Amino acid sequence: MSDLRYQAKRAQRTEIPRPKRGEGQWALGYSEPLNKNEQSKKDDDPLNVRDRILYVYSQRGFASIDPADLRGRFRWMGLYTQRAEGFDGGKTATVPEEDLDAPFFMMRVRSDGRLLTAATVRALGEIGRDYARDTADVTDRENIQYHWIRIEDVPAIWERLELGGLSTLEACGDSPRPFLGSPVAGVAADEIIDGTPALEEIYRRFIGSPDFSNFPRKFKTALTGHPSHDVSPETNDISFVGTVHPEHGPGFDLWVGGGLSTNPMLAQKMGVWIPLDDVADVWEGVASIFRDYGYRRLRSRARLKFLVADWGIAKFREVLENEYLGRELVTCESPASPVGHRDHIGVHEQKDGRRYIGVAPVAGRVSGTLLIALADLLEKHAVDGVRLTPYQKIVLIGVDPERVEDVIADLEAIGLSARPSNWRRNTMACTGIEFCKLAIVDTKNRARDLVAELEKRFPDLDSPITVNVNGCPNACARTQIADIGLKGQLVQVGDQQVEGFQVHLGGATGLQANFGRKLRAHKVTSAGLDDYISSLVTAYLADRTEGESFTT
Ligand code: SF4
Repeated sequence: MSDLRYQAKRAQRTEIPRPKRGEGQWALGYSEPLNKNEQSKKDDDPLNVRDRILYVYSQRGFASIDPADLRGRFRWMGLYTQRAEGFDGGKTATVPEEDLDAPFFMMRVRSDGRLLTAATVRALGEIGRDYARDTADVTDRENIQYHWIRIEDVPAIWERLELGGLSTLEACGDSPRPFLGSPVAGVAADEIIDGTPALEEIYRRFIGSPDFSNFPRKFKTALTGHPSHDVSPETNDISFVGTVHPEHGPGFDLWVGGGLSTNPMLAQKMGVWIPLDDVADVWEGVASIFRDYGYRRLRSRARLKFLVADWGIAKFREVLENEYLGRELVTCESPASPVGHRDHIGVHEQKDGRRYIGVAPVAGRVSGTLLIALADLLEKHAVDGVRLTPYQKIVLIGVDPERVEDVIADLEAIGLSARPSNWRRNTMACTGIEFCKLAIVDTKNRARDLVAELEKRFPDLDSPITVNVNGCPNACARTQIADIGLKGQLVQVGDQQVEGFQVHLGGATGLQANFGRKLRAHKVTSAGLDDYISSLVTAYLADRTEGESFTT
């Protein structure tokens, strides 16, 4: 937002005393950047880097990229530099930041809960095959994530994505990150309300808008009208969650201030009822509060959760109503928290009588080749398309009931299981040391091997146990809300440091929402992970009372 527009808006506000030591909040008059990230965003709107990528960098090559763009503004276009090949996570040497940059990029494509048709899935697969050494992971923010992208190929990739209605715009950076939408929106027989039009409106009005391209940090949105709360609403900055008002009918409650990483916090429920048509306006109000009042001095305190924690939900609502919406929200009891799965795995009836089928890759690992095979399958069986889930799964939408078993058999043949083991179903992994510059340990391959081993050791596990494998404290795969959350770190063994994990035990969302307990002694080497988890599971199976889950 320009300074002039900001000053005009601020004139409408109630004066709030300016504290002696500022947190960099624009609304309190701190417009001078207090760190280099804030300075970079002030120097140039990160959205402007799009044209430089298209018309300069892609033509002149990696060496021509301005370092401020490379390590900063590129993120607004969904591009991060990839970990350099051969780097060992800093175990053997301190590596200067610039040496971590390789001439390849990770590219994140946002799906925002959209239905991806066979043609779009094919395009995504072909991009992976042709430009990304056949990578194409499904992330837990409903993205497709590529690796090994060259700057020279970005314009061609964007062109192909745009044909399918997809984009990498603001897929990273201090921006409105990819939305989590219910994977079964508009089709589930037990849905409370279909929020698709609201997500589409938020995207149309605010993604790529310079008014919302400079948040203090990332801003994560989730929206679901499904009673399973299938978008992890507890862990997003802003969540709209389907609820029913006794007089007004279906609408959405508003939850704000969730986030994991270090200092994890669950979102606070406002206890309101927002009709579908008002959701985008309320999103704008909350996003504006974050932009104007969010802390900008320290990056470690710049997420919305810190402001919500300091203000409390009552003050947050008051500011939202008085300063941004100009009206009061309707009070309503928050929806009941669910128990059980949120991943839509298996076969389920749609409201139109057809079926949707949720399938599990292993820890989100997919490939361009697999997506092309999936597109063939969708066409062969006349399936409407797929949606991605926040649990690294894929849901086929609009399957003819007569063809369900044939579809499942064809899915199995390409490595996507509609009837996965408990271990395959409930294990997630972040990107890890293979590509992520912040990683300390390997995650994807470790998770794959772990699933295979636990399937052998506990083939008939009858109670779900979730395992989330993370390569560092950033908790991209939600360390703190798994039964067994694993945070990558180096572990001391004798006089050596080896790859391992700090273990968090007993995390959950839904009715038993809770962060896993972290005990000093709960550390395990990567090599010892199979045996460690086996001992936990054996103890649980031996001691559990009837109906007792792993976490309780
Ligand atoms: Fe990278 Fe850490 Fe996030 Fe894993 S948790 S993707 S290692 S930043």
